[in-house]
Amino acid sequence: MADREVSTQSGGYDVELFVDTPDCDLVCTICQGVLRCPVRAACHHIFCKKCILQWLKRQETCPCCRKPVNSSLIFLMFKLSKSIGRMKIKCKNEIRGCSKTFSLSEQYCHSMSCLYELIPCPYQGCRAQLLRRDLDTHARHCDHWRQPCHMGCGTILSHRTQAQHNCYKQLRQEYEASQRNHKAIATTLQRKMRRMQSTMTHMKRQIGLICESLEVMDDLHEVEEEDLGESSVNSGTPTSNNSNG
Ligand SMILES: [Zn+2]
Ligand SMILES: [Zn+2]
Ligand SMILES: [Zn+2]
Ligand SMILES: [Zn+2]
Ligand SMILES: [Zn+2]
Repeated sequence: MADREVSTQSGGYDVELFVDTPDCDLVCTICQGVLRCPVRAACHHIFCKKCILQWLKRQETCPCCRKPVNSSLIFLMFKLSKSIGRMKIKCKNEIRGCSKTFSLSEQYCHSMSCLYELIPCPYQGCRAQLLRRDLDTHARHCDHWRQPCHMGCGTILSHRTQAQHNCYKQLRQEYEASQRNHKAIATTLQRKMRRMQSTMTHMKRQIGLICESLEVMDDLHEVEEEDLGESSVNSGTPTSNNSNG
């Protein structure tokens, strides 16, 4: 199943898609589709580019006449490609109701605007798949519908909140919430400041005590030095303390 999907994707265009049955000269013998990106081999047989390149990986002979084919000697047919692009096709959504026809080259453009194209609901979280033409109706009831308030208050609205939404009330609530938040921050800061102040008072007291004890130690030291001086004089070394008298 997966294999077939890949091969139809890389091969030619579905013959059923065309308004008028395509000439058999325009059909690729490998994929049986209308030539997509046609190339001509040296033997003059024409294939879709992808079809023949894939074929040549298995055997290097033409699938029509079995003559040898060199993959570097195949040529793109621009004019043929352009005239195939001008062929009229039906919309691939014909079974869903699209009756539009357009040239093959406009296929992508049309699918981007086709009202019968199956697309996913654009609102995040919604898994609905719907026709493009039903999108507006679906959006009116989609539980995942979200849109910013059209008055510009910045609130994202759902169908449930839209009915009772009031910009003034919303902004007031937000303002009050932010005020509560600011007050909480101020209280915390004040508490921290008080704690720091008490720590500082405590440290000041400690430093005072340290200073006091240092002074006491200095005094003691001086007394000791004086004691030492006297004892050195006594031991009979007069040179050092002569000046002190
Ligand atoms: Zn093909
Ligand atoms: Zn051939
Ligand atoms: Zn369509
Ligand atoms: Zn939805
Ligand atoms: Zn609003």
